[in-house]
Formats: sequence, structure tokens, C-alpha cells
Amino acid sequence: MLIDTHCHLDFDRFDEDRDAVLQRAAAASVERIIVPALDLANCPQVLALGDLYAEVYAAVGVHPNSTALWENVWLDSIRRFAAHPKVVAIGEIGLDYYWDDSPKEVQQAALAAQLELAAELELPVIIHNRDSSEDVLRLLAVSPLAGRERPGVLHSFSAEAAVAEAALRMGFYIGITGPVTFKKADDLRAVVAGLPLERILVETDAPFLAPQQRRGKRNEPAYVAYVAEQIAALHGLSSDELARITTNNAMRLFGSMAPGAEGSNGRS
Ligand SMILES: [Zn+2]
Repeated sequence: MLIDTHCHLDFDRFDEDRDAVLQRAAAASVERIIVPALDLANCPQVLALGDLYAEVYAAVGVHPNSTALWENVWLDSIRRFAAHPKVVAIGEIGLDYYWDDSPKEVQQAALAAQLELAAELELPVIIHNRDSSEDVLRLLAVSPLAGRERPGVLHSFSAEAAVAEAALRMGFYIGITGPVTFKKADDLRAVVAGLPLERILVETDAPFLAPQQRRGKRNEPAYVAYVAEQIAALHGLSSDELARITTNNAMRLFGSMAPGAEGSNGRS
């Protein structure tokens, strides 16, 4: 069994064949999929998918690229959305200095506020970090999540080993996506080879970041198996063993996500 811990299954690129995508995921033993929201308008959409599909769980929050108009009153909406039984995390939240869609200080205020909310709700966070490692680590370190048992994940990790080490010391998990399979990704593979197995999560970030075997195509949850295969090879394990370990990791961080049950997000 595998868990795709980050997939934008709500995007319209899945509108025509979402049922088929989920059938292919099930055929590839991908039995849980976490769909993170990007902004307040998007939260009801990901929650609706959670209502519709037993295997879909959700994260709610505001992505850094959607924080330009951030107001702290948005926290009230996120708090309401987070009460949905399929919500297992606050996300995706973080910093993005590549696109720079929102001023840095606004992004930082929105991240800090949502980290506080996650701590209050006792939910882990899903962190987006693009060209902003230093500020992400600084804000995580001063947040009430640092040092907690299940603070969250640095999703689609692409930074250097020192960033992973700092996050691991604070208790965070590291999410690995398709780029670990890319031909020229030797640096990333070296980082992943050095990660402790009990802190690795696998994810697709679909429809983006299709692995080498499907490069240029739309990504989908079934392809998380390619990510798992690559990590297994780096750690000298079988794919089954790697799947078992990363699935246990995801359940430790996000709760057991038992099918048909209440979201086991640690608040029950
Ligand atoms: Zn994402």
C-alpha cells in the first residue's frame, strides 16, 4: 500500500477522468490521497472531494502565492474548514520567492499565522518552500510546532541537505516527488539517500512533476509508485518495504485515515 501525500486532484485537468485516475491509483496500491487546498475558495472544493471519495483526505489553508490580500480574519474560515472530518493537515502553506506573487513580508505573516493555527488545532502542516529555505526554517523554528511530535512535512523537497537536516531536527518529515527520478537529479538523489527512512513521505504533486518514466505528461497518483521505487533503490530496499515504511510514516504524521471512518487527525 502507498499513500500519495500531496495531489491536486481537484484541478480541472482531472475533471474528465477523475474516476479512472482513482481506479488506476487503486490498481497501483495507492490507497489514500491527500489533497491540499491553495486558497479559501479552493477549500470547499477539496472537502467536496473528501466527501465524494473514501480514499481522499484533505488539507486546508492558503498557499503563499495566494496571500497577497491576506487578512488574519481568514483564519476563522480556515478553522471552520478544518473541522471537516476528512481534514488531516493545514496546507499547503509556506513561502514562494520564485513567483513572488505576494510581498515577502505578507507571505511570512500568513505563514506565521497559519502555523499558530495548526498548533492550536493540533494538526500537522504541509509546507511549500520555493527559493525561501532560510525564512521557512526561521519561521518554523519560532513557531509553536517546532519540536512537537508531528509538526508537518516539507513537501516536494528540492533544497540542499542542510535544509533537510534542520527540518528533521525540528521533527519535520520530508516529502519526495517525481524530480528524484529525473536524469539530472543526482544532487537530490544524494540528499534523499541520506534521509532517515522513518521521516520520508512519498507524493506526486500531481498534475505537476510527472516522474521521468512519464515526463511531459500529466502526473497522477498511480505514478507515486515510481517515486517509491527510486527511493527504495537509493536505500537498498525492495519497493514493498519502502512502501510499508513510508505509509507508516504518513499515518504517524496525518493519522490512520481509516476508510469510511472519521478523519483520524489526532483530535478524537
Ligand atoms: Zn502542491
